[in-house]
Amino acid sequence: MSKKEKIAIVGAGAVGSTAAYYLSQDSNLEITVFDYGHGQATKAAAGIISPWFSKRRNKAWYKLARLGADFYPDLAADLEKTGADTSSYQQTGVYLLKKNEEKLQELLDLALSRLEESPIIGQIKLLKASEAQEKFPGLQGFEKLLYASGGARVEGAKLTQILLSASQLSYVNKEVQIQPLGEGYRIDGQIFDKVILATGAWLGQILTPLGFKVDVRPQKGQLRDYYFENLNTDAYPVVMPEGEIDIIPFDNGKISLGASHENDKGFDLTLNQGILDSFQNQAQTYFPHFEAAEQKSARVGIRAYTSDFSPFFGEIAELPGLYVASGLGSTGLTIGPFIGNQLAKMVLGQPTQIDPADYPTNKYIKKSN
Ligand SMILES: Cc1cc2nc3c(=O)[nH]c(=O)nc-3n(C[C@H](O)[C@H](O)[C@H](O)COP(=O)(O)OP(=O)(O)OC[C@H]3O[C@@H](n4cnc5c(N)ncnc54)[C@H](O)[C@@H]3O)c2cc1C
Repeated sequence: MSKKEKIAIVGAGAVGSTAAYYLSQDSNLEITVFDYGHGQATKAAAGIISPWFSKRRNKAWYKLARLGADFYPDLAADLEKTGADTSSYQQTGVYLLKKNEEKLQELLDLALSRLEESPIIGQIKLLKASEAQEKFPGLQGFEKLLYASGGARVEGAKLTQILLSASQLSYVNKEVQIQPLGEGYRIDGQIFDKVILATGAWLGQILTPLGFKVDVRPQKGQLRDYYFENLNTDAYPVVMPEGEIDIIPFDNGKISLGASHENDKGFDLTLNQGILDSFQNQAQTYFPHFEAAEQKSARVGIRAYTSDFSPFFGEIAELPGLYVASGLGSTGLTIGPFIGNQLAKMVLGQPTQIDPADYPTNKYIKKSN
């Protein structure tokens, strides 16, 4: 019997847990996942999947974002085949609000122009306030909104849990470092043939000791979850008003509200109730019931940004067999599982659906002198 190839994945957020899931389907591989979990963006994420209304001109990013949204139903179908739970992803639709009605028409036209390459957007239409109430009773503070039925929300923590439990792997809850050997890499006293670093905002901490400069900075994000005993929120659409706040309904009466984008807090994970209270004040314009929630709790996580806001993934040229992904920013739950899937293909030597050269690691990871 030939020896199994040993693969380590450091970081079990959206990227790492999806890579682990796909790699673990190959019985010739032995997979170990190391995850510290501290500050993980995936479990703190709002979970909105709706990239088609973005006016960002970065074509490589948009391609990744639309393919990331397309990938969710494929992932759900793969999970379903093995009998795993698929409920972490739900296409309940999205409501977009703009103060200026002309902007709604612009967004409608933009989404219609993208519908052919992204049929997943679904039905797109302008709704009057009374029509919008049908799917989200009690929503107010606007005259019209734009609805897209394909918009979705994902529970990040649940998704990673499902992926990891549907995989054959060893899981180690620990912060680790990596040591390159002539061949392979040592992590936590074990030697691995290949490694994926899916460490999000913490990529610099793990690569700097190896003599690299990493262009990834942290951004703190906080949000609050509200629980309503008497609301059946299961099919409520996500609401995206103009500005920082979004309203994200989940199953069983849970509605999340956030999130902050704090660039000056480093890796700080302290909750700031003042910021969360101000979100609640803004959101009451649209849904006055937040005040009456039976229970409230908060989440905080750290997003990863590059200096030009572009994500990157692939092998590090100087370290063969070492693959990375980071810089996913505020749309990382949209693109993370797809990137994890593409990284798994790279590790397996299979063709990828997108060209990693468009998301080059050497632009953001450089040898320090
Ligand atoms: C508040 C908030 C709201 C968001 N909302 C959305 C949204 O609505 N839609 C969207 O698409 N995206 C959203 N995002 C962005 C998205 O969550 C992230 O971009 C994405 O989850 C990043 O995934 P990742 O796997 O790269 O990193 P992470 O999820 O951060 O995972 C990295 C993991 O690596 C672990 N780790 C790091 N270093 C080590 C080490 N040395 N040893 C062991 N483990 C290590 C960490 O502890 C962590 O668990 C949001 C993010 C935040 C914070």
